[in-house]
Amino acid sequence: MFHETIHHADGVTEGTADEAHARYLLRRAVRLRYDVEATKAGGALVIWTARRIGCQDGTVLEEARSLELTPHLPAGAALTGATVDLLADIHEARRPRYTEEDGRRIISLNNFCRIPPAATARLRAHGLVTEDSDGRVRLTLPARLGLLARAHRTRTTKPRGWQYPADLGMASAGLCKPGRRSGLLYDRSSAAVCTCGQLAAYGDGRDEARRRAAEHRGEVTRAFIMAAL
Ligand SMILES: [Zn+2]
Repeated sequence: MFHETIHHADGVTEGTADEAHARYLLRRAVRLRYDVEATKAGGALVIWTARRIGCQDGTVLEEARSLELTPHLPAGAALTGATVDLLADIHEARRPRYTEEDGRRIISLNNFCRIPPAATARLRAHGLVTEDSDGRVRLTLPARLGLLARAHRTRTTKPRGWQYPADLGMASAGLCKPGRRSGLLYDRSSAAVCTCGQLAAYGDGRDEARRRAAEHRGEVTRAFIMAAL
């Protein structure tokens, strides 16, 4: 279950969304080309701009709107290395299911592999796995969104600031004015990188690099929603 917070024209509406409704909301957000991003907690943030005609003079008014889904059981802190590996095993297994071993519940991955009782109990307690009506055990939506956010942790580098032209690979002199910065050039470029290794972008200034990083996180979230939900 998710806690749902919507910021709209008349204020804020709070509610709850089950997984099926959360999936519907995320698919709809992608279809409408809204910005969407998975959160470390295993939720998602959707942002869009609403346009409406002003009733006084007919001008078009733009207003920022958002929808935030926060899982009742946050996945983030539970997604440590060992748990991430177990979840990958479950996700890749052909037909994982619950079964019993010495009276305790385990997840059977196939004839040879199983997830022991304590680990199974931990996955269930953190809301990371669930059982479908056909008996198949699968990762919950918070688990999958949390794993996605974990796989795409971005950062930007600090611009180098005032540099000697030679250090920037340039032969010519920069500001040839009297004072401390004589001959120096200002390097504003900031790199945006992601733990997935797929992002190698530069921004003219750190704000632009942060935008590039956010665009990347949005792209991978949209791709996940289209492929998996
Ligand atoms: Zn990435």
